Amino acid sequence: MSNLRFKAVEDAFKKKAVIVSPPEQSTSKYYGKYVFNKEQMTKYLSKETLEILTDVIEKGKTLDRELANHVAAGMKMWAMERGATHYTHWFQPLTGGTAEKHDSFIEYTDAPGSLVREEFSGKLLAQQEPDASSFPSGGIRNTFEARGYTAWDPSSPAFIVDDTLCIPTVFISYTGEALDYKTPLLKSLNAVDKAAAEVCQYFDASVKKVITYLGWEQEYFLVDDGLYATRPDLVLTGRTLIGHESAKNQQLEDHYFGSIPTRVQAYMKDLEFEGYKYGIPLKTRHNEVAPNQFELAPIYGEANLSIDQNLLIMSIMKKIARRHGFRLLLHEKPFAGVNGSGKHNNWSLGTDTGVGLLTPGKTPEENLQFITFIVNVLLAVYKNNALLKASIMTAQNAHRLGANEAPPAIISVFLGTQVSAVLDKLENSTSEEAVVIDSKQRMKLGIAKIPEVLLDNTDRNRTSPFAFTGNRFEFRAVGSSANCASAMIVLNSIVAAQLIEFKKTVDAKIADGFTKDKAIFDVLKEYIKESKPIRFDGNGYSDEWKEEAAKRGLDCETSVPLIIDAYTTPATIQLFEKIGVLSERELLARNEVKWETYTKKIQIEARVLGDLVLNHIIPVATKYQSVLLDNVYKMHQIYDKEKALKLSAHDTGTIEEISERISSLKSLIEDLVSARKIANKMEDERARAIEYHDKVLPYFDEIRYQVDKLELIVDDELWTLPKYRELLFIR
Ligand code: ADP
Ligand code: MG
Repeated sequence: MSNLRFKAVEDAFKKKAVIVSPPEQSTSKYYGKYVFNKEQMTKYLSKETLEILTDVIEKGKTLDRELANHVAAGMKMWAMERGATHYTHWFQPLTGGTAEKHDSFIEYTDAPGSLVREEFSGKLLAQQEPDASSFPSGGIRNTFEARGYTAWDPSSPAFIVDDTLCIPTVFISYTGEALDYKTPLLKSLNAVDKAAAEVCQYFDASVKKVITYLGWEQEYFLVDDGLYATRPDLVLTGRTLIGHESAKNQQLEDHYFGSIPTRVQAYMKDLEFEGYKYGIPLKTRHNEVAPNQFELAPIYGEANLSIDQNLLIMSIMKKIARRHGFRLLLHEKPFAGVNGSGKHNNWSLGTDTGVGLLTPGKTPEENLQFITFIVNVLLAVYKNNALLKASIMTAQNAHRLGANEAPPAIISVFLGTQVSAVLDKLENSTSEEAVVIDSKQRMKLGIAKIPEVLLDNTDRNRTSPFAFTGNRFEFRAVGSSANCASAMIVLNSIVAAQLIEFKKTVDAKIADGFTKDKAIFDVLKEYIKESKPIRFDGNGYSDEWKEEAAKRGLDCETSVPLIIDAYTTPATIQLFEKIGVLSERELLARNEVKWETYTKKIQIEARVLGDLVLNHIIPVATKYQSVLLDNVYKMHQIYDKEKALKLSAHDTGTIEEISERISSLKSLIEDLVSARKIANKMEDERARAIEYHDKVLPYFDEIRYQVDKLELIVDDELWTLPKYRELLFIR
């Protein structure tokens, strides 16, 4: 039998780096080449058009057809000059990733001398009705009735991929419900802008707008594509369902920040050239903790744009990986026993006057503002910790969270010693001390003296899912394959709702005759007390923390289908409806999609696991068993019985072990199939997801255990699936 595994391993070892020569200019010369950004707009749009469009983008004015026509004309010219022949509305369905359907620019024409002309009108730019009936909608959109349509989001610039002009859009049902991530994201950004700008008025009346910033850190694995092709589990599920740990993996900690293998280095460079052409400000690249694991991070930017760029780079990464003979794994946990991948979401708010609201300031006024925002975020996260967890929870991410490498499946906030000390001081100060008449006294309280070193805060706690890191919060529980919007919608919304509440309470106190400062201090003091249980600076991986968190009343649920329930509690529905981000109907529908997706993922994995065991593992183990049997048989031919028994004792033991493991596997697979059948009969999406979690999923570990034991005893020559040591060490 030819063993594809050995061929693939040999080929992988022979592969050389694919050196792509850099563009001849410096980065700044080709940066943003394929993006219809401000600079390009200035060249291709009239001054008047650009002015109105800027108002649409910056002030949220509505886009009329005439303006759309002008913009479309300029955009078409720009795109055609860069080789575009097609256009697409590029949107973010609930399946994750992005979706697009390409249409050519051509239309018939009566004009003499040609049959077709290129056409791209404002109508086509502004709105489209893709046949979207096969995107998940959680029952909002019946396949036979209401259509969904996409509508241009002018706040994210159009760009060209290959020959196609891509127009970032929202995706909504005919009846106006969001079927995507972008719609509620934009609403949540708007909500937090309004609520935060109002609060800023206490400190600086010139603030008109608050911008949400996001800087993501994308972790990923690369695997040689030949090896990948021989692992059906990687191909079909994005992760290895079986495979014994390599004798060496990450225990020496020699991969993190180590030198990047040349093949990978070439890939990263190529990826950066591409990313820069799309105006994605890629800044950092390095090895991550696990072998074959890497990270990519841009300079942070406005959240909506930053999310689009993350989605775009994820698809570019996939393409470029193939050019270099790799496959990209964005799965949160592709390999057992080594770290999984996350996508830290560095989140902050800043004013249009250039002040970071989570940055310790220089003046007492700025610092009171800083503390105000920190404390409100803290309380928002505390009150909604279950919801925030739901925003990042998926079948894939569940494998990563709670393992000894990633944040636990409990949300807590790390503030670091300095900010903690300030809050403690504030909490314990008497009202007289807290009420500050002049800035000098406020200094006494320590608020004005939050040291600037905070900005280079090295007081880092890697085990915290939500950590303050000097000028931002770093939400680390987000999964590597996720659309960041899911987490950002929730974070923005809970903070917006909290800030509205804060403003209301403070205003009421002022109306009662309190000074502004006293009103703010009093409310903050209350908030600091109330939000205490969410603060945790210790080791989030420890078992003591799990106990402690439960005592504090934090959400400790670990079952994904139940975690998702947090989206539809009365309090959550009220919160989202009040700030106009998602309606009850949308929330219910979106949960249906989440449960359905969860079930499908586990269902596919269960099938693949069954196939692997029945078609790969058992046949190979049987083959090896018969080699051993043959050996034992021959022993008995040559030696007398007693000696033969003695000499073949080891083989006989192995033969029996193989038999036992094979029969365990057979019955486990049968049980797995029956459990699936029962689950599949359930009509209700939630009930089915729960059944998959409770009754199907537990077989995975048991099956894997048996398979991985067999991997250790079966002759390496016979094993057909690349092993961890082969998959995980790119040379
Ligand atoms: P680390 O791995 O130490 O967390 P990185 O440098 O890899 O840090 O990534 C930090 C990310 O945070 C980058 O994307 C960076 O641009 C972003 N960032 C820095 N300051 C802010 C801020 N004020 N708001 C949002 N993101 C920020
Ligand atoms: Mg980080």
